[in-house]
Amino acid sequence: MFGYNVKQIAQGWAKKMLKQGEELYKSRIVICKQCPLYNNNPTLFKEVCDASRCVDPETLKPSNNDNAVCGCGCELSAALRLENKECVLNKW
Ligand code: SF4
Repeated sequence: MFGYNVKQIAQGWAKKMLKQGEELYKSRIVICKQCPLYNNNPTLFKEVCDASRCVDPETLKPSNNDNAVCGCGCELSAALRLENKECVLNKW
């Protein structure tokens, strides 16, 4: 359901290169920056929904419980431009 397949990755990067979906990106990244799964990683990609971080979906505190939700691993400056992209925490 929250998978981000190769076709979607290509579409996201194409939109980024063509500067499409800017408003959608801007409206979502504001929310992502407040999220505990957001990671600004200067070594690889700039902004990611960090797959190495998991939180309790109710408290948003770090968790390894069965119901914990982990980041999708998406590079956000591309992924957030896709209309059909879903946030793993349903924040937008
Ligand atoms: S869980 Fe949602 S709001 Fe949080 S960083 Fe990932 S995509 Fe953004």
